[in-house]
Amino acid sequence: MNTRLETPPVTVGDQEMIVNGVGAQAVAGWIDVESPRDGSILGRVPRAGEVEVDDAVRAAAAAFPRWREKSARQRGDLLRQIADAVAPHVEEIARLSSAENGNALRTQTRGEAAFIVDAFRYFAGLAQEAKGETIPIRPDALDYSLRQPIGVVGAIVPWNAPLMLSAIKIAPALAMGNTMVLKVAEDAPFAVLKLARICQEFLPPGVLNVVTGYGKEAGEALTSHPGVGKLSFTGSTAVGRRVMEKASERLVPVSLELGGKSPQVVFPDADEDWVVSGVVSGMRFFRQGQSCTAGSRLFVHADIFESFTAKLVEQLSAFVVGDPLDEKTDMGTIVNRAQFEKVCDYIREGAAQPGARLLAGGVPDERADGYYLTPTVIADVEPSWRVAREEIFGPVVCVIPWTDEDEVVAMANDSHYGLAAFVWSKDLGKALRTAHRIEAGWVQVNQGGGQFLGQSYGGTKTSGLGREFSLEGMLESYTERKHISVSLSQ
Ligand code: NAD
Repeated sequence: MNTRLETPPVTVGDQEMIVNGVGAQAVAGWIDVESPRDGSILGRVPRAGEVEVDDAVRAAAAAFPRWREKSARQRGDLLRQIADAVAPHVEEIARLSSAENGNALRTQTRGEAAFIVDAFRYFAGLAQEAKGETIPIRPDALDYSLRQPIGVVGAIVPWNAPLMLSAIKIAPALAMGNTMVLKVAEDAPFAVLKLARICQEFLPPGVLNVVTGYGKEAGEALTSHPGVGKLSFTGSTAVGRRVMEKASERLVPVSLELGGKSPQVVFPDADEDWVVSGVVSGMRFFRQGQSCTAGSRLFVHADIFESFTAKLVEQLSAFVVGDPLDEKTDMGTIVNRAQFEKVCDYIREGAAQPGARLLAGGVPDERADGYYLTPTVIADVEPSWRVAREEIFGPVVCVIPWTDEDEVVAMANDSHYGLAAFVWSKDLGKALRTAHRIEAGWVQVNQGGGQFLGQSYGGTKTSGLGREFSLEGMLESYTERKHISVSLSQ
């Protein structure tokens, strides 16, 4: 682990929110945003509350009638222009993102920033796909359906992949003719604000508003606001429940992308280096495990347990952990002190369980500036332990042996989460049989990559409601169906 910073310090200064196309401050003042690279203050953003959120929702509501009246093609063209304008800023946005949330530039934020361009282009192309249907009810009647925008979308995103998660809400919501108030995470506001400022060059004022601040203040003000017609939330399951509670008071539709504790099932024929690399990628070690889809419950067949875990430890020992902005770095830093302490507590507790073996990583002896941890492997974990059941959101994989296919499927499904899963075997019969039986919104077989445009991504059980990343997700999340029934007999 190299926690000595090889790249210069970054400062951002004070950055205003965006309300009705212009910069805005908050009556409650500013909040500091720390860089987890070194604990320095990167800059400040306004501490929005009810007043500022109300301004933003009013601006979005005022912009809605004219935005929805634009043709789908015009909206698509504007989204395409935004994509073209963002493209030359990808590197700058990626660096900002690494500085604020600690994800490594080379392995994470550069790709994530490039994804914005892809997402805006993809949904620009789908803007004209809000098609309806005709229903043959009677020969003398015409019945057809329309897909219409909902109105003001209140969107809330977390800090772990703020660019991807914001783009995946802004682009489809706007493509369908909605306007938006986006609440960014208090730990990672700057990169999304930069994106949103570029968007303002092309969008009419009020179409996209971005508010900053704490969840309990700005977030609650948004989920409670009567002017919001749809809530789209990505974050923890606990806060997702709260968002749904607030939505239920006004009966507004809600999409929730929440937490996970995803299983990876390794069959005995998969004791190979490429599987180990895939498992490392599926565990999202490159993002410090701070990913909702992290495959953090690793079920390895007993016949290959020792050999596979030895290969895993060997690969992880080559990981370069350090300054997120350094090109040599594979894995950056945990986002903040609270999260760092939480992950360390889980490691201490898991490693101290009777029979547990800490094969790699662990809690660092001395905390350097920043919140650096190395990839941690705890073997011989019992599925009932807290480390195996709760989302740690850190670079910690729990390895659990198995011997029987039914047994491993039961263990994989014994979770209140159901977001992602990974199955590793060259026997496609076994692999697909297992994939079909695992309770998750997304199962990957022999690969451990990230979400891609076009897939209907989302969770089952307490991992969420609704789908994103796709045409279907866009239509379900951001349009309302209306039927027009016409008598032809007059
Ligand atoms: P979080 O739920 O604490 O916060 C997410 C966002 O909600 C932040 O902007 C926060 O300010 C806001 N918020 C907090 N309290 C609120 C409230 N009472 N009302 C309204 N908004 C509120 O989550 P986090 O710690 O920032 O992110 C990590 C979590 O997000 C993990 O559980 C992870 O699995 C999940 N996540 C899920 C997905 C997915 O696609 N399923 C993707 C990324 C992250």
